[in-house]
Amino acid sequence: MNALSKTELQSLMPITQRPAQLFVRGQGDWLWDDADRRYLDWVQGWAVNALGHCAPEIVEALQRQSTRLLHSGPGLHNDQAPALARALTDASGLAQVFFTNSGADANEGMIKLARKYGQQHKLGAHKIITFSDSFHGRTLATMSASGKPGFAALFPPAVPGFAQARYNDLASTEALINEQTVAIMLELVQGEAGVIPATPEFVQGLRALCKRHRLLLLIDEVQTGMGRCGTLFAHQHYGVQPDLMSLGKGLGGGVPIGATLASAAVTACLAPGDLGGTFNGNALVCAVGQAVLATVGKPDFLAHVRDQAAWLAAELAALSRRQSLGVLRHCGLLLALDLPATLTAERVVNAARDAALMPGGTGLLINGPRPHTLRLMPALNSPRENLLQGLALLEAAIVAAR
Ligand SMILES: *Cc1c(COP(=O)(O)O)cnc(C)c1O
Repeated sequence: MNALSKTELQSLMPITQRPAQLFVRGQGDWLWDDADRRYLDWVQGWAVNALGHCAPEIVEALQRQSTRLLHSGPGLHNDQAPALARALTDASGLAQVFFTNSGADANEGMIKLARKYGQQHKLGAHKIITFSDSFHGRTLATMSASGKPGFAALFPPAVPGFAQARYNDLASTEALINEQTVAIMLELVQGEAGVIPATPEFVQGLRALCKRHRLLLLIDEVQTGMGRCGTLFAHQHYGVQPDLMSLGKGLGGGVPIGATLASAAVTACLAPGDLGGTFNGNALVCAVGQAVLATVGKPDFLAHVRDQAAWLAAELAALSRRQSLGVLRHCGLLLALDLPATLTAERVVNAARDAALMPGGTGLLINGPRPHTLRLMPALNSPRENLLQGLALLEAAIVAAR
C-alpha cells in the first residue's frame, strides 16, 4: 500500500478492524486490490451486491438516470420513486412504500408506523416484542430493538418500548404480550447470529398470536429479501404475510436504499409529516432499485438461485465432512458453516484473504459473524464455475488455517 493511502486511512474513524488491502475495482464475483491481486468475493458488501460488483444492469441504470435527474427532494414527485414503489407493492401484496437510505432507517419506519397504529387503534400501546440475538441496525432505536450481544452496554440509555423474547420460542413470546404491546418484529433468518432460520411453526405461531392479540407482524427482510433466500422475500417460504416489511441491502444492488412497506390498515394511520428524510425516494437510487427488482424478481432467476443454493449447500456439507467441520445452515444463498472449537472463523477468514498464499494467487473474501461460524453470501448470479472455485479456495484456506 502506498504512503498516501495510509495517511488518508488515518482520517477514517476506526469503526471496525479492517484488513490492509485497498480495494480499487470490482466486476461480478471479483474484487481487485491496489496491487492488482484478485479476490473471489463471497461477502459482496454484506449481501448488498445481489448481482455482483458493477453489474451491467445497474451500471446501465446509473448511467441513464445520472444524466436525467438525481434528486428532486422529498417534497416533489420524481418519476422513479413511484415506479419502484409500485413494483414493490405488486411484488409483495403490501399497500404502500416509504423509501429510506438504509436498512436501519427502514426498520425505524416500521417501528414508527407500529407506534402510530398503537396510538390510533390500541389506546397508545407501543411496545414491540423482538428477539434474542436479533440484529435490526445501528440507529439508537434499532440497536435497542436488537438482541445482539454487547449492544445494550454501548450507548445507554436504550430507547424504551422493546421487550425481548427467545427466538424460536413461542411461549416466551406470548408471555411478554400485555395491553401495551402493539407488534412483534423479527428476522426470518438471523444473519448476524450466524444464519439461524426461524422454524415454520414459530413463524406461523407468531402470525396466530398477532391475530389473537391484534398485533402487527413486522418482518425485517433487509438481509433475507430481494432473492437472497431463493424467493423474492423470505416470508414466501413460510406462507406468512407481514403487516410491515423492511428492505435494504440487496434492494440497491450496491447503492444505498432501503424501504418500509406496509399494509393499507397501517398506512391509513399515517398523516403527511409523520415520516420523511431528505434523500428518501432519491431518483438515482430508485432507478437502480428498479433495475435490481426487474432482474431478481423474475421467476427464472429465482429458480436458478434455488438450484445454485441447493447445489452449493450440498457441496459445502461434503466439504464439512471431508474436513471434519460442523453444521451447514442456509436459506438460499445466505449460508453459514460452523467450525470446530479448535478452529476460529477469524483464522479461516484471514487465511482466505491472504491472496499471495492462496492457490493461483487468488484470495477469497468470507465473513465470520460468530467466533466459530463462517458466513457466505455470494452474488445471486454467480456462475457455477466460480462457485466451484470458491469451494476449492475455501478448502485451501481451512487447511492453511489449521
Ligand atoms: C444489515 C441489516 C440491517 C441494517 O441495515 P443497514 O443498511 O446497515 O442500516 C437491519 N436488519 C438486518 C436483518 C440486517 O441484516
